[in-house]
Amino acid sequence: MALANCKECGKKVSTSAVTCPNCGVPNPTAKVVNMLGMKVKKGSTEGNAIGIIIMVAFWGVVIFAIVNTNSCSSGQLF
Ligand SMILES: [Zn+2]
Repeated sequence: MALANCKECGKKVSTSAVTCPNCGVPNPTAKVVNMLGMKVKKGSTEGNAIGIIIMVAFWGVVIFAIVNTNSCSSGQLF
């Protein structure tokens, strides 16, 4: 049985605790997950790589849209 900091109040609580004995939050030591359902690790190379991929994909779409807009003189819209 290990102790970890409560995500709400920061007090030391058991990792097996269902609720925080101090503030009552459920799963007080559960890891914070992002919208992709992956564990957030600050400064991790995995997170950075995913962020870069998302940025590249995003800007690829933006640049693609700009190029298409500028070349509409051909009369072809998608
Ligand atoms: Zn708490």
